[in-house]
Amino acid sequence: KTQQHFRPTKAIIDLQAIQQNVENLKKFLRPTVQIIAVVKANAYGHGDVAVAQAALDAGATILAVATPEEALHIRAHFTEPDILLLGASPASFAPYAAEQRIILTVFASEWVQQAASFIDKEALPLRLHIKVDSGMNRIGIRSEQELLEIYQTIQSTDNVELDGLFTHFATADEEDTAHFEEQVHFFERCLSIIPSKPRLVHASNTAASLVKDPYLQYDAVRYGISMYGLAPSSYVDSIAPFSLQPAFSLESELVHVKQIKAGDCVGYGATYVAPTDMWLGTIPIGYADGVIRKLGGQEVLIDGQRVPIVGRICMDQCMVALPKAYPIGEKVTLIGQQGQHIVSVDEWAVKLETINYEVPCIITARVPRIYL
Ligand code: PLP
Repeated sequence: KTQQHFRPTKAIIDLQAIQQNVENLKKFLRPTVQIIAVVKANAYGHGDVAVAQAALDAGATILAVATPEEALHIRAHFTEPDILLLGASPASFAPYAAEQRIILTVFASEWVQQAASFIDKEALPLRLHIKVDSGMNRIGIRSEQELLEIYQTIQSTDNVELDGLFTHFATADEEDTAHFEEQVHFFERCLSIIPSKPRLVHASNTAASLVKDPYLQYDAVRYGISMYGLAPSSYVDSIAPFSLQPAFSLESELVHVKQIKAGDCVGYGATYVAPTDMWLGTIPIGYADGVIRKLGGQEVLIDGQRVPIVGRICMDQCMVALPKAYPIGEKVTLIGQQGQHIVSVDEWAVKLETINYEVPCIITARVPRIYL
């Protein structure tokens, strides 16, 4: 059932763009390689259920999330596909994971032993992927000994199955390959000593999938940022094998338009002073929507032109300098395209001194996601 939205502020998610980005990757990968669609964090702010469906329709076979709650939410909507929880989870989640066929990430023998005390030996088996920390220093086993220990613990624990082995690269999006190669080397060593290779070996994120040796695609790749049409770095963007279709736009409308006089002040702190008589518009979006105050001065698109946000951004509203009077209801594109002009997620990332990944994630739940 579609919910009715009265406030005109909305994120528009282009699901066809997401499908295209998955289909293009699929054509590019070696034919046996599976695509794990990374839909954690509400699909990087795009909406996890709709994105997961689009990704599956386009050929992804596994969905990856970061938390138990995300995994359960996805499972409630999709009965078939494998769901992989990439982060750490408490051992007490093990029986829920087994029952809901959620694959968990493990990196400590003690965790497996604790989980074993929670799981029902007669029920569905708990499937696990061992995480190898090959140099990111986040989570994962860090030595061959630790790997063999956790492998043996899994083998000797009833109703627990080793299903996969994986690692994550810290610098796959960079041109310099020194650290990346060290990580590959350690992961390969782990693969060579594990007594039997599990069903699913995976290592590559978007960057590694697109620009590194196809051999590193192993059995599956974890496709995140470029599924959303964004490049993991300008280096990857410059050599990516296909063009990416951005899926995220942010739109609103003018709710108030007026003329102010030279010298009039705008917003909290009266920080913007009109240099001349001018037209001013108010947009119903603010920092509680994720349009944080650091975006002051950022341009938005109105009537195919770039116009700046002026004054401090408020919690729910902000003001823009207009070249002339516009009617109430005039469309405002904060991220997206109008005519010749584009304000991209990447432009916001530069303004915010961050990476494009962070931009759709910080657009809060108050902004409805509307699907094209
Ligand atoms: N795999 C893991 C373990 C991750 O944490 C992430 C995202 O941070 C990804 C894959 C997807 O990375 P990307 O969005 O760069 O493709």
